[in-house]
Amino acid sequence: MSIEDEAPQGLFIGGAWTDAAATFKVTDPATGEVVAEVADATGPDAVRALDAAAGAQATWAATAPRTRAEILRRAFELMTERAESLARLATVEMGRPLAESRAEVAYAADFLRWFAEEAVRIGGDHRVAPTGDYRIVTARQPVGPCYLITPWNFPLAMVTRKVAPALAAGCTMVLKPAEATPLSALRLAELLADAGVPDGVFNVIPTLSPAEVTGALLADGRLRKLSFTGSTEVGRRLLAQSAPGVLRTSMELGGNAPFLVLDDADVAAAVEGAMVAKMRNAGQSCVAANRFLVHAAVADEFTEALRERLAALRTGPGLDPGSQVGPLIDAKARDKVGELVADAERRGAKLRLGGRPVPGPGSFYPPTLLTGVPEDAPITQQEIFGPVAAIAAYDDEQSMVAAANATSAGLVAFVYTRDLDRALRVGDALEAGMVGINRGLVSNAAAPFGGIKQSGLGREGGLEGIDEYLEVKYLAIQA
Ligand code: NAD
Repeated sequence: MSIEDEAPQGLFIGGAWTDAAATFKVTDPATGEVVAEVADATGPDAVRALDAAAGAQATWAATAPRTRAEILRRAFELMTERAESLARLATVEMGRPLAESRAEVAYAADFLRWFAEEAVRIGGDHRVAPTGDYRIVTARQPVGPCYLITPWNFPLAMVTRKVAPALAAGCTMVLKPAEATPLSALRLAELLADAGVPDGVFNVIPTLSPAEVTGALLADGRLRKLSFTGSTEVGRRLLAQSAPGVLRTSMELGGNAPFLVLDDADVAAAVEGAMVAKMRNAGQSCVAANRFLVHAAVADEFTEALRERLAALRTGPGLDPGSQVGPLIDAKARDKVGELVADAERRGAKLRLGGRPVPGPGSFYPPTLLTGVPEDAPITQQEIFGPVAAIAAYDDEQSMVAAANATSAGLVAFVYTRDLDRALRVGDALEAGMVGINRGLVSNAAAPFGGIKQSGLGREGGLEGIDEYLEVKYLAIQA
């Protein structure tokens, strides 16, 4: 039996697997073949899941932090033990090479370990009122039942980045995974139950009707929190929908990362960083380098070295051990990337590598390099979400920073320079929630991940991540 056949395919509600009235198909982007049929939740199914979460809330909140921590630690250990089958499942449903899926599983497991360690450190403080006659004591309490919506590009890590802090804080939850990748989330439900998460605390409802399911939950007064990772467009809509209930919200939205290579950069290191920042997940990452802004003094050297590295990559199915670049998530995504590249060419950019979709089956697009990309081209304004490096050359640091900031997104930026003063000056000036300095990868369970401007609200991971699931309560105590 294949891994995807073994994966659970029902709704997980109140600790039990249940069917839905209909199912929907999950396909392998490398072949276009159907790999599973998953239960398709409706609005009433979502309300049943919230019934379970609301019913479990008080007991889970009252469970000792040490117990919650030990369950999370056990979940980390189980994920580590099951890493290979989880990695294969992620590759089957989202396409990327197995080695990258293994890295995602390790990253996903890290959130379970990190928040196991944080569960026992939820604190408060004590002050004497300025008038001296009473005490101000603060405590932090779980926000209550949460609704978590996740995207397809990291089908496990985007889930544990929310689930682990919510569990650590003492919240119960309903998770709606992306329709392209529900299998990893369903496997996680099985794993969390095995780790000892009580019935009703964690519920999963895959659906092909996200708007209907979400409408039913956001209108329900028992829900206290929405945490969303996905596109800015959907996030904006969900913020408006959350307003009537004055829900707590966390929003991890789209990026448009600039990657600056200054004239004093170590070009070899910059190319190394560019390969990670651009090519992880075939560019299908919110923190993917979207625009390469390179100083004219090093532009030719950087471009040629990057072109060589990209040209050497092998595109192919993720389960094939020789593949270094997998397919894009679906044909629509591949066509969108193709259109952005064609449009950039029409605007005068020069195609230096790739640029033509790989004939089917599967939604493959090859590593591609463009130079002379105009600043107003849609490829520099939108997330490419594909393996396309778009390079533009600049004559000075100031214009590079201005171009980097000329976007409504503010998730991450990267800068390469050998001069620490410059690194700090440019790092301060870049409008982004995260800045990679001489580093192409910033994601880490121990660091606060999140954006400014239209890239979102709140932070996931780090010391900050658990705060998204806690409320501050102030007790005024008469001395
Ligand atoms: P998407 O916004 O289309 O979908 C994300 C999730 O929202 C999915 O689960 C989807 O089913 C759900 N959804 C879609 N329409 C909805 C609606 N009307 N109501 C409720 N839910 C709805 O995004 P995507 O294509 O799955 O993911 C790619 C996007 O996610 C990119 O923009 C990327 O930058 C962003 N992303 C951001 C981060 C981050 O941490 N900032 C991380 C990963 C991905």
